[in-house]
Amino acid sequence: MSQAVFERLAIIGLGLIGSSLARRVMADRSPAGPILARELVAFDASAEVRLRARELGLADLVADDLAASVAGAEAVILCTPVGALGAVAGEIMPHLAQGAILSDVGSTKQTVLREVLPILRPDIPLVPGHPLAGTEFSGPDAGFSTLFEGRWCLLTPPEGTDPLAIERIERFWHGCGARTRTMDAAHHDRVLAIVSHLPHLLAFTICGTADDLADETRQEVLEFAASGFRDFTRIAASDPVMWRDIFLSNRDALLEMLARFTEDAQAMARAIRWGDESFIVDRIERGRAIRRSLIELKQS
Ligand code: NAP
Repeated sequence: MSQAVFERLAIIGLGLIGSSLARRVMADRSPAGPILARELVAFDASAEVRLRARELGLADLVADDLAASVAGAEAVILCTPVGALGAVAGEIMPHLAQGAILSDVGSTKQTVLREVLPILRPDIPLVPGHPLAGTEFSGPDAGFSTLFEGRWCLLTPPEGTDPLAIERIERFWHGCGARTRTMDAAHHDRVLAIVSHLPHLLAFTICGTADDLADETRQEVLEFAASGFRDFTRIAASDPVMWRDIFLSNRDALLEMLARFTEDAQAMARAIRWGDESFIVDRIERGRAIRRSLIELKQS
């Protein structure tokens, strides 16, 4: 029998990310392949989601009680919205098995350290993670087992975390098809502010602006939505609770990136006003170059 990464794993929160992980764990049980967890226990705060998770066969056991779901688990991965992570960690802390690894998938990382480190038991290694994978859909039906294939999962363990615990979480993500990189939580939050949080802020804002237009113009925006606006609406369809939590928990980095963006947008406005063709072309060329690099890195 091949070695399992974890004998018993608990996943808390069965939305898009949690249910995708759960599907992957349940699918990876072939004797030849990597067994991610020999036993998977799952929990979600919503009774409706727990019912659906049972119907979908997302875990060996879907527990009705948070404390019971983590008992005896070698690792617990929190997949709730960022705003709930601290409270859930606090609730499960007394019930974690000796030496169990605590991880999460939250989109912002400093907030996890801020909220969990003060309540962390000394025997529990904390290995926060963030898979750079997702869709605009949420809930247990939105997940799929290949979501993490070829994607990055960024890990932000605090200094002094047991390297063996980090290595096991890395093995877990590799088994899900992801690549991993370890980095400092503050650095993670700055990078994500520009690659993910600012684009979402712009998408929500531009859709809001379109919605504020006079009735006849708004109707035309919808009817003639060209690819640019349509692409923004796909991003703007994301879950409001998740994005509220992300914006509030990464406030400083996001506001810094927004200020830089505003300055650059002003420079573009000035170039358009004064007919500065070379400035405009240079900006568009830089955008095209970034797109080409993404395609080369297979991240498009
Ligand atoms: P989701 O589809 O909305 O799922 C979240 C699930 O957690 C819901 O079923 C929710 O139940 C449940 N939940 C909320 N509070 C809970 C609690 N206190 N205890 C247990 N379960 C609770 O969200 P998601 O997209 O999977 O996101 C989950 C996490 O992954 C977030 O931290 C997010 O930042 C991160 N993430 C998301 C993406 C993405 O693209 N979606 C990508 C990377 C990382 P209710 O429905 O009853 O609230």
